[in-house]
Amino acid sequence: MIPLAKPDITDLERKEVLEVLKTPNLSLGPKLKEFEEKIASYIGIKYAIAINSGTSALHLVIRALGIGKGDEVITSPFSFIASANCILYVQANPVFVDIDPETLNIDVDRIEKGINEKTKAILAIDIFGLPAEWEVLERRAKKYNLYLIEDSAEALGAEYKGKKTGSFGDAGIFGFYPNKQITTGEGGMVVTNNEKIAELCISMRNQGRNKGQNWLQHKRLGYNYRLSEVNCALGIAQLERIEEILKKREEVAKMYNGRLKDKKGLKIPSSFPELTRSWFVYVVQLEKGVRRKERDKIIKELKKKEIECGNYFPPIHLQPFYRKNFGYKLGDFPVTEGISERTIALPFHNNLKEKEIDYVCKNLLSLI
Ligand SMILES: *Cc1c(COP(=O)(O)O)cnc(C)c1O
Repeated sequence: MIPLAKPDITDLERKEVLEVLKTPNLSLGPKLKEFEEKIASYIGIKYAIAINSGTSALHLVIRALGIGKGDEVITSPFSFIASANCILYVQANPVFVDIDPETLNIDVDRIEKGINEKTKAILAIDIFGLPAEWEVLERRAKKYNLYLIEDSAEALGAEYKGKKTGSFGDAGIFGFYPNKQITTGEGGMVVTNNEKIAELCISMRNQGRNKGQNWLQHKRLGYNYRLSEVNCALGIAQLERIEEILKKREEVAKMYNGRLKDKKGLKIPSSFPELTRSWFVYVVQLEKGVRRKERDKIIKELKKKEIECGNYFPPIHLQPFYRKNFGYKLGDFPVTEGISERTIALPFHNNLKEKEIDYVCKNLLSLI
């Protein structure tokens, strides 16, 4: 089977992890500090706080901004479920805004319609590693006095007008699940220039303890969202190789582009002059008019040929939990719905071979 995603683990990662296991420090040790410092320096931001997942990182940012019951947060329905769920964790409500059909990111021209007196924040996503329109988002947030949150879980290394994603808005997050650009097994990171947000996240990831406080003193409601030294060591080794990793991914994407561009019935990922994509997945779109069933059949046929593909992303508002609790229905966000039934995520990882790409493309093209 050619897998949809695959982590790229070398002897460097194995060595770093083994080193940790020779010490008694398995949590809250030197590797945590080193990983955080290296991410902060890579992104060009003051504070980085390692967290046990990207989802937990989003939860902490929402909490740190004081978003709570009845508040509204503007976000995109075309994302991984966590970017909306984190709003529900604090009894706030996501207000979905449809996407731009070219970038697949939140359509900045539709945001204002979703803003009212309950709106507290905009949470935008750098979907598939492509930066959202951060300059416009920052203007909107400023104009309406809203917090701005960047879910950059899919975009480590991407740049908006030469500035790294994760560094926009009040706080950003990354995710390090094994299908992301770099992995820690499970893990995530909050990044921010705001000292107060950083301190709150550090406290809440560690059961609400404050710095220097007694281990059994809990100033606020917290969680165990710590990232172990073993995970941090893995992350340090991966980050050491980030340039190599991003280059490998770009080369794989270029090979796909070369074989799939200008093919009738197929749209390859778009590129934009001021947006530097960090390749997370390689998602093609079937032509307009193709229905979900036909797309799913192609995915099934490819699976029979040992090619694992994905349907990134089914719209969040149409997930059973959201339909049931918020009454969303088909037709609510037509751009998202239209695109999400025509997407196919092709196998994509650092070490995908040219021969495998040929095989995937030959089979895909024979089915459309
Ligand atoms: C992966 C991902 C997350 C969550 O990361 P986890 O580490 O899996 O919890 C959040 N948002 C987006 C857009 C993602 O792709």
